Amino acid sequence: MSIGEVYNKIKNEIPENVTLICVSKTRQISEIKEAYDSGARDFGENKVQEFLEKYDSIGKDIRWHFIGHLQTNKVKYIVGKVHLIHSLDSIHLLKEIEKRYGAKNEIANVLIQINIGNEIAKTGVAPEEMNDLIKACEECNNVKVKGLMATIPIGDDESSRKYFAKMKAVFDDLKTYKYKNVSMEFLSLGMSKDFPIALEQGANMIRLGTKIFGKRDYKKLEAL
Ligand SMILES: *Cc1c(COP(=O)(O)O)cnc(C)c1O
Repeated sequence: MSIGEVYNKIKNEIPENVTLICVSKTRQISEIKEAYDSGARDFGENKVQEFLEKYDSIGKDIRWHFIGHLQTNKVKYIVGKVHLIHSLDSIHLLKEIEKRYGAKNEIANVLIQINIGNEIAKTGVAPEEMNDLIKACEECNNVKVKGLMATIPIGDDESSRKYFAKMKAVFDDLKTYKYKNVSMEFLSLGMSKDFPIALEQGANMIRLGTKIFGKRDYKKLEAL
């Protein structure tokens, strides 16, 4: 199946309210165009420089999702160009986003990334630090929190189900509070291997790379 055919097949299989993000990291412009021509408008990138190269090359009606760890010194390059930042994971980063977006009079829409498995080598705010981060978000003028994102520990279906369910519980709990600048609209969970379980557990944003474009080849990047 072609990229476009796979995209359309998945799009038809998932509920209408679910945002399907085509994770285009390491992919050529031509591959992104194939998905775009089939109707895809949500794309995910995880490196600022790679994102900027692609941003300048294709459709301005693309909604770009920044899904990778965002270094504070790179925030200034993405202001006004990203639809949704999935990876707010510290007060330090929040302050930089507030400052840079404020300077350009733009609003940053963000998801809080939670390290739900408490993994040492993973980014994301620890669940027990989430409340402090939310408090800091309430003080902002140029940041709006729209939901939560996580990448879960590698494991079998049962393990994935457990972590997705934990995320849904945090999401539902936050929904019951009225924090300033915080609304729980999007729950971004699920990648190529586990998205059906994520959907079963209540995700409404899924991030698929391999499933749509095939296996990633990091060497190809040099020829972008
Ligand atoms: C690469 C990546 C994905 C997509 O992974 P696949 O397994 O190729 O679907 C999703 N989310 C994040 C944060 C990623 O970095």
